[in-house]
Amino acid sequence: MKQKIINPSTDEVITELELAGKKEVESAISSARVAFDKGTWPAISLKERKNFLLKISQGILDKAGDLAKLESLNTGKPIKESTFMDIPSSAKTFEFFANNLEKYLGPDTLKLQDAHCQLLREPQGVVVLIVPWNYPLLIASWKLAAALACGNTVVLKPSSLTPLTALELAKIIQEADLPKGVVNIINGSGAGLGEALCSDKRVDMISFTGSNATGKQIIEYASKNVKKLIMELGGKSASLILKDADLELAVNGSLCSIFLNQGQMCTAMSRIFVKDDVYDKFINDFTEKVKRIKLGDSLGYETQMGPLISDEQRKRVLEYVEKAKHQGAKLLCGGKIPDDPRLKNGFFFEPTVFSEVSPEMGIFQEEIFGPVVCVNKFSTLDEVIALANMSDFALASSIWTRDDALAQDLAGKINAGIIWINTYGMFYNEVPYGGFKQSGFGKELGKDGFLEYTRLKNIIIDKTKDSKPLVNYWYGF
Ligand code: NAD
Repeated sequence: MKQKIINPSTDEVITELELAGKKEVESAISSARVAFDKGTWPAISLKERKNFLLKISQGILDKAGDLAKLESLNTGKPIKESTFMDIPSSAKTFEFFANNLEKYLGPDTLKLQDAHCQLLREPQGVVVLIVPWNYPLLIASWKLAAALACGNTVVLKPSSLTPLTALELAKIIQEADLPKGVVNIINGSGAGLGEALCSDKRVDMISFTGSNATGKQIIEYASKNVKKLIMELGGKSASLILKDADLELAVNGSLCSIFLNQGQMCTAMSRIFVKDDVYDKFINDFTEKVKRIKLGDSLGYETQMGPLISDEQRKRVLEYVEKAKHQGAKLLCGGKIPDDPRLKNGFFFEPTVFSEVSPEMGIFQEEIFGPVVCVNKFSTLDEVIALANMSDFALASSIWTRDDALAQDLAGKINAGIIWINTYGMFYNEVPYGGFKQSGFGKELGKDGFLEYTRLKNIIIDKTKDSKPLVNYWYGF
């Protein structure tokens, strides 16, 4: 079956692609299994593996300009973001794991009283990687680089809305000359292929990034044959702006924290809490700047906000906005499809700010995944901690204050896997990343994220003085 790939800035067809079906899933899993069980990849020297990954990293850099354009064309994210964030960061992740795999996989031993223990890090085996549409190449790279560096073979499924950069990555991997069957990329519908991919006995692990609803389904599929899982799911993150914050920084940082990538970020700070003493100044400066954000075609270098990924996503966002208005939240700006005739074909939505949002409202509790933010005031620290933690999700948080000790104290009390102090969105390959509660489990990046793609085997060798351990005497024979 053919599928149209749409440019969300114009609603025009970029290209048509063949969609994978069950037959292609079968062939991808079987090819990854054979490459793992009978191929060279898990056993080649770490140095060789490192060189393959460095070639992929260089391949991404060599095509960086084209990849950035393709990513923006397909996702609608402003070209400035793809050029300076998504593409170079993808290359850097391959480079990082290439340069660290020998260190992370090195032998580890424990000397025990009567034994020696060797701790071996082995690859998991065949790993299915399922990625969303908001950071298609970057999230694919986080997963692929770590999985390959550990010696796994993989089946990667990009979102069927945004498969284009993953297909370019397939060419880069081919040019890097990886052994046959190590990387298998299939473009297909998650709903159609998910069960076949995620319940198959030949698959050892699934690393998933996407919505909470899909994550739960995948956990069900995987339970049929018990697999290692990484689940990077949604968020409803809180930003705390304290009385002594650098307000200009807090305003500018807050713009990034909710409007980058049109708010389609799992770590979007969609709830901002501002200390009542500085609330009026904050909200005036913030909304004044929000109104100045330039919407436009994702390929325009002047564009600060592109379209949402699809008309369906825009309808969803609009529904949340209408419901919030109806429930009594105060709309301060945005909240509608822009009138500008230049934008009429794309899936644009105005950056939207609400205040006076009560915790029972959907826009306070649910992940909207769009450019919609609630800005509320608070008066005490206990109150803001309770409000920030009043969520089923626990992914990220930002704290804006000049008081380092207070920031540290709050960081300990906020329920989130990632806390940024006086900044937002800083991701480092060195730093493990992931949330708690309904935001999922497992880490990406860093040594911890890397080791997720390994299984730990221990080998215990008897070292009793006379080489007769207790088992020799137990039955007294
Ligand atoms: P989604 O769950 O709809 O889709 C994600 C991927 O899962 C896609 O490749 C899709 O084709 C596939 N899929 C869909 N149904 C499936 C099924 N039944 N079985 C197997 N695979 C299936 O999510 P999305 O709309 O692409 O992305 C947005 C979501 O991703 C948001 O909830 C966001 O918070 C989350 N996200 C989380 C992180 C994180 O690191 N925590 C990062 C980015 C995005």
